[in-house]
Amino acid sequence: MATSIIDPSRLEKIEFSNDEIARYSRHLIMPEVTLEGQKRLKAASVLCIGTGGLGSPIALYLAAAGVGRMGLVDGDVVDFSNLQRQILHGTKDVGRKKLNSARDRIRDINPNTQVDLYDTYFTSANAREIVEPYDVVIDGTDNFPTRYLSNDICVFLKKPNVYGSIFRFDGQCTVFGPHLGGPCYRCMFPEPPPPGMVPSCAEGGVLGVLPGIIGVMQALEAVKLIVGIGEPLLGRMIAFDALKMKFREFKLRRDPKCPVCGEHPTVTELIDYEQFCGIPDARAAEEEEAHVPHITVRELKAKLDRRENFRLIDVREPFEWDICHIPGAKLIPLGQLPARLSELDSADEIVLQCKSGARSARALMLLRDAGFGKLANVEGGILAWAEEIDTSVPKY
Ligand SMILES: [Zn+2]
Repeated sequence: MATSIIDPSRLEKIEFSNDEIARYSRHLIMPEVTLEGQKRLKAASVLCIGTGGLGSPIALYLAAAGVGRMGLVDGDVVDFSNLQRQILHGTKDVGRKKLNSARDRIRDINPNTQVDLYDTYFTSANAREIVEPYDVVIDGTDNFPTRYLSNDICVFLKKPNVYGSIFRFDGQCTVFGPHLGGPCYRCMFPEPPPPGMVPSCAEGGVLGVLPGIIGVMQALEAVKLIVGIGEPLLGRMIAFDALKMKFREFKLRRDPKCPVCGEHPTVTELIDYEQFCGIPDARAAEEEEAHVPHITVRELKAKLDRRENFRLIDVREPFEWDICHIPGAKLIPLGQLPARLSELDSADEIVLQCKSGARSARALMLLRDAGFGKLANVEGGILAWAEEIDTSVPKY
């Protein structure tokens, strides 16, 4: 039986109204929870970083369960592409700050939960101040700088960090907490992968229901730590495969050489996590891509209308082409381009296009290196086309 992370002295002043007793009755009748466990939940504070796919079920269930104080960190605005999985936000919220729709939804679920809003991105400059007042941190973000930052600050401040990650059909969940006897994220991954090596959900997609499953597991682990029941996911990683509907469990061990929680730590204060994760180098590469010769979608439209002699090559994937494409374009996915150069004539003017302009810029550099001279990249890709030229084209 685990012990609660909530100090018993904090329960003395906790009281419940009759409405609250009724609200939590299904908890109160369980001998493992009782009024004592519900008091722990009410005394507890949980910080949820991000109110997206993972943050949505985390915040909804923890508020419903009676967590007394929830901190939410998010600097983003609700977009249509969020609604397939981010169930804190509704159609009417598109364009609103995510924090505002999250607050409204949580208030409706449980007005007894105090909601603290941090309308900002989580950074080295604000992490300590934001994390300090909370008992548990739940990381609901999907980028490496934030993952390392939330790990390091939680190790320094001795806060359990409930980890979850999702990609396409797969998810993972564990609890980091060297002060509780478990490992930290850096025990497994001391260094981040090279930038661009691991695609994000925005690049690779994610099945809409999956964050619900992983986020609910994160919320559940937070509840167990607070109430002090069961076996926490310390030192264990659950890997979930949605297509096979299989859960697997891996042992995670503390690394005595871990740079943050090891015996001789080399990282003892917060660092520049963007630098650490190679983001500036990735930006420099993007910068280079941005400087390839380009044309706007308006210029492309004018060229097409004038029936100019040029080739328009779409370097996206076939399934993207099926969603939408520009009339007159030819599909050659970026990955196939090196093998299909013979289909192109270096004497022709070639205009390259993708979803937003990044892949086609890489295609342009590839063709330039292969000796092609008359090249241009369509700025903003088919998204810009849908925005400025043909609003009947769907954005995805
Ligand atoms: Zn560690």
